[in-house]
Amino acid sequence: MTFSDALKCKECGKLYPLEAMHVCKFCFGPLEVSYDYDEISSSISKESIASGPLSIWRYRDLLPVSGSDYVDLGAGFTPLVKAERLGRYLGLKNLWIKNDTLNLTGSFKDRAVSVALSKAKELGLKVAACASTGNLANSVAAHAAAAQMESYVFIPTDLEAVKVITTTVYGRNVIAIDGNYDDVNRLCAEITSEEPDWAFANVNVRSYYSEGSKTLAFEVAEQLGWRVPDHVVVPIGSGSQLTKIHKGFTELYRVGLIDSEPQVRVFGCPTTGVFPSSKRLCTRTRLREACEAVDDSKVAGYRKPSGWSVCIGCGSCYEGCCSGSL
Ligand SMILES: *Cc1c(COP(=O)(O)O)cnc(C)c1O
Repeated sequence: MTFSDALKCKECGKLYPLEAMHVCKFCFGPLEVSYDYDEISSSISKESIASGPLSIWRYRDLLPVSGSDYVDLGAGFTPLVKAERLGRYLGLKNLWIKNDTLNLTGSFKDRAVSVALSKAKELGLKVAACASTGNLANSVAAHAAAAQMESYVFIPTDLEAVKVITTTVYGRNVIAIDGNYDDVNRLCAEITSEEPDWAFANVNVRSYYSEGSKTLAFEVAEQLGWRVPDHVVVPIGSGSQLTKIHKGFTELYRVGLIDSEPQVRVFGCPTTGVFPSSKRLCTRTRLREACEAVDDSKVAGYRKPSGWSVCIGCGSCYEGCCSGSL
């Protein structure tokens, strides 16, 4: 059973059925899964979560999948490690690191892909696919193998061999495109419109895919004894994980698992190399600067109403340059 009831346009609010689509037909805004939170409140409890599996599926009431036949390789429930020495170096008393490298294919992508392919199976889609620069490719190929679905992974032709090798361990169709990551994405969008049976993790089932990232926020709160941190620093590419981590903390309050409205501020850290095609984007932000900024009320000016900020550490470009795709 699922408490998700619709896809809702983040721009104009128009509602759609829970199908394989991710863009509003009227305003081209992104679609997001919406839930009946009152129903979830009466079903979910700290005890019901504690008795669930040690994976993202312990939070199933807050995920958009019916039934319990998940495509599950055990994503999630990764350690939250107290970083004493790094914290001291940065001047932070309580610094924790969520070690999501311990997911099966080595990144948080397993959370999102587990949800995306579970939904794809439920919708009767036959092939799993994605555009990727490495981590997503590995995760899609691995989960597709577990689900006995064929997978097609599209990558830019200049990707490091070491990333491609792991993908080919799980899936046999790895297609290198002579172009950059944007070109690969455009091609995947075209294929999506021609192949109704294909589930592209980051195209037509993206709304479900990105819901998986919320589970990182749920876990952090649970691992801290149902408390929400003051600040969270998240690596960003498209920014999907960043916005969903904020949504995750908010939902915990909405369904009564935490008592007060979270005051958490979520910061995005772009990493050199994750924006292969855009020279406009800030590459100067480093974890060090991000953490210093967190410690320093100067960043208040960068605050956005929804509670997250981008491009801290680079005062010159926060206005819009990174927020376009968020
Ligand atoms: C995919 C990925 C990102 C970017 O995630 P978005 O949700 O696109 O912002 C950042 N870090 C790692 C390790 C990734 O695999």
